[in-house]
Amino acid sequence: MNSERVWAEVLELLKLRVNPQAFQTWLAPTRVFNMVNGTVQVAVPNNFFADWLQHHYRNEIANALKAVTGRDLQIEFLVPADVKVRPAVTPQPTVSAQPTVNGASQFKLKSRYTFETFIVGESNRLAWAAARNVAQNLGKVFNPLFIYGGVGLGKTHLIQAIGNAALTSHPGLRLCYTPAEVLFLELIQAIEKNTRLEFKEKYRGLDLLLLDDVHYLVGKESLQEEIFYTFNALQDAGSQVVFTSDRPPKDIPTLQERLISRLGSGLVVDIQPPELETRVAILLQRAKQENFELSEDIACYIANRVRSNIRTLEASLVRLIAMHSLTGRPVNAELAEAAIKDLIQHDDPLDPTRVINQVAEHFQVPVPELKGTSRTKRVALARQVAMYLMRNVLNLSLKDIGFHFGGKDHTTVMHAIEKINGLKSRDPMFASQIERISRLINNH
Ligand code: ADP
Ligand code: MG
Repeated sequence: MNSERVWAEVLELLKLRVNPQAFQTWLAPTRVFNMVNGTVQVAVPNNFFADWLQHHYRNEIANALKAVTGRDLQIEFLVPADVKVRPAVTPQPTVSAQPTVNGASQFKLKSRYTFETFIVGESNRLAWAAARNVAQNLGKVFNPLFIYGGVGLGKTHLIQAIGNAALTSHPGLRLCYTPAEVLFLELIQAIEKNTRLEFKEKYRGLDLLLLDDVHYLVGKESLQEEIFYTFNALQDAGSQVVFTSDRPPKDIPTLQERLISRLGSGLVVDIQPPELETRVAILLQRAKQENFELSEDIACYIANRVRSNIRTLEASLVRLIAMHSLTGRPVNAELAEAAIKDLIQHDDPLDPTRVINQVAEHFQVPVPELKGTSRTKRVALARQVAMYLMRNVLNLSLKDIGFHFGGKDHTTVMHAIEKINGLKSRDPMFASQIERISRLINNH
């Protein structure tokens, strides 16, 4: 593979692993300069970029390079004088067609990110309800609203849905949606150009501030300070603020100290990885949006393989559609598997087959029997242990767990978990065996 091709693949992988805004801002402008003696030289627009990538994305890039080339390569960031790299210190957000904030540019809200297209399940119900409530009662309930959850679980969708809904009911609303990363760049520029006052004014004149990915503020004191004061000013003026983050406020140390007193009137909600049912519903909805006929079987198949990230779930579908239309191959499990294969990391920590294999080995029960219907005592106990571990180690929903055992009912799964809990508390030997199996699963 030539180096350009390698870099294109690396970027494809990174696109799935870092948030889209960060990707656009920091990774899209890079290109490979040279690949010699186990070192990849990456051309970047300026030194600030080189520093930034070095500190924030080096590991991600190294992992992606390894996935593509199978080798551990050194990475060097270069600012080649004679090489044209798209300069992109100023992020190039799509300038909104909507009213701009005090004449400044703002990010356009995606029209697809609405409450109507947001599939609700146990994993995200609270966040969804809180977001809807906030959109309908700007500045009156839960201010600020703080939504947190892992990558690709719908935070950006939800925060933008608030913006879309609020704009529909109040067309003149002064709102701004921005990723914290971009706010940070803007602040740096304001400092450089001595326009800090304008920067302040721009944000303080808002009715609704939607600040995405504030975990970005970890370690960035100047921006935290700015946001803290802006937030206070907004809240005092009765404006609504919504934050999203990949972690709860208590894990953003300095932010928490300052905000904690103010969070009293607010609400912190989390989004958990979606359960099987929600994943299937999301796939079916996406297929419909793409005018693609997707059977529930195949949706289930994909949803069972891609569990922890909705962005990857959607990417799998897009690939399936592309592969089907390009090759004419029928849409079946085989094609679905081919579409998914490169998208999911092989070290996915949430792998139910790992539980099944460990339990099968421990109890000396063949895997098909474990997953089957045999009621012999040993097999039944092993199966119950596997269900218990899927719940406790992998955090799968009862329904998801049932699926791995030939579609067993969630009450059967619940009964199994209760039984193992009971056995563990009565029998310390048994408890330590379970402990051992779960360690093996985790350390794999
Ligand atoms: P995050 O900001 O948490 O990383 P995003 O909001 O970007 O995640 O979501 C990733 C993708 O998954 C988006 O295309 C989004 O529309 C979709 N998505 C996430 N959650 C849902 C949901 N509950 N229903 C429908 N689509 C969803
Ligand atoms: Mg996001």
